[in-house]
Amino acid sequence: MSSPSADRYARQRLIPDWDQERLATSTAVVVGVGALGNEVAKNLALAGVGRLILCDPDTVAASNLSRTVLLGPDDVGRPKATAAAGALSRIAPDVTVETRPAELVAGVGLGELSDAGVVLGCLDSRRARLRLLGRATLVGAALVDGGTHPWGGEVRLRLDPAEACYGCSLTAHQRGESDLPWSCAEIRPDGPQPASIVSTSIVAGWITLVALRVLFGSPPRYRLLRIDGATGDTAPVTLTRDADCPHHRPLDGPVHPLPLDHHATVGDLLEALPAGAEPLAWAAFPLPGRCHHCGENHAHLTAQPHQPAQPHQPAQPGQPPRCRRCGRAVRLRRSERLRDADPALRLHDLGIAPGEILTVQTTTEGERFQWHRLRTVTHPEHRPTAPTSV
Ligand SMILES: [Zn+2]
Ligand SMILES: [Zn+2]
Repeated sequence: MSSPSADRYARQRLIPDWDQERLATSTAVVVGVGALGNEVAKNLALAGVGRLILCDPDTVAASNLSRTVLLGPDDVGRPKATAAAGALSRIAPDVTVETRPAELVAGVGLGELSDAGVVLGCLDSRRARLRLLGRATLVGAALVDGGTHPWGGEVRLRLDPAEACYGCSLTAHQRGESDLPWSCAEIRPDGPQPASIVSTSIVAGWITLVALRVLFGSPPRYRLLRIDGATGDTAPVTLTRDADCPHHRPLDGPVHPLPLDHHATVGDLLEALPAGAEPLAWAAFPLPGRCHHCGENHAHLTAQPHQPAQPHQPAQPGQPPRCRRCGRAVRLRRSERLRDADPALRLHDLGIAPGEILTVQTTTEGERFQWHRLRTVTHPEHRPTAPTSV
């Protein structure tokens, strides 16, 4: 007896240039599982993309539910990526979904971005977009990125680090640390963007269309598309390369495979690297704190630096952790040097992502940096289930 999903794709197999088998063996990384990410992940899964990696550090809030097809009231408080994966396994049981309820840098390694057929940016802030653009650039990953405004939005495609990019369209000041929610209409730049499922699903449809054409090896010629439902104007816009834009430099050398994954300890990593090598994390991690009032050590404060934010408990940067002995504030130092970390700590606990490519400073003459890649291990949230006997 054939599997119930055997002819699930019969209609779309008839589409010119469609290649169902190619989709089935493809991986797409979806960064951001909010409104856009829900629609895009749903589209990719229904189309039959074989493997999805969903990355989002946030948990579901009730205000997400008007625009998130994969999330329901029972999901409030759960990680968005995990909750969305559950829904995907019901609507598209053939698709393998891996979840990364973490910030991008801790969630998806550069090696995974490099291996993916396409990376989808479904983010709502300029800073998060630039961070993803920067990481995609390092490994030359194909990036499709979108954003909505009330009656339309934008879709951007970046295939090669040499091409003009989203960063080129910003001023140097905008490329700085600004974290304002982005909108091409610049409506209420200081507050939450007005948004509905309408523009979300339109833009997500375009993002998915572009991503599928990238996976089929026939990407569109445009790199920026503006969609305006109010006027009916939907058209490609030319992006111009800005010579000062920093998002055009990929890693400049061979990537050496490591015999370790992100569950290895810092000590294991140091043993696997050449003597004197100085491995660096892409994001600083906290070091053990020591209370300078009473001298108490606070090793426990270093654990889990990349926990997803809890709902209704926004981070309070003005409130450092308190000393458990004397109750005064403990200031934690941070470092990117993995040699500064406790060698018994696992790389994952320091925010190192699966399949990460680590920068390693070397003492070799004439060579400053090497690139070393952690092995990829997969822990899918949902794997297609084997057909059961009838
Ligand atoms: Zn650029
Ligand atoms: Zn103290």
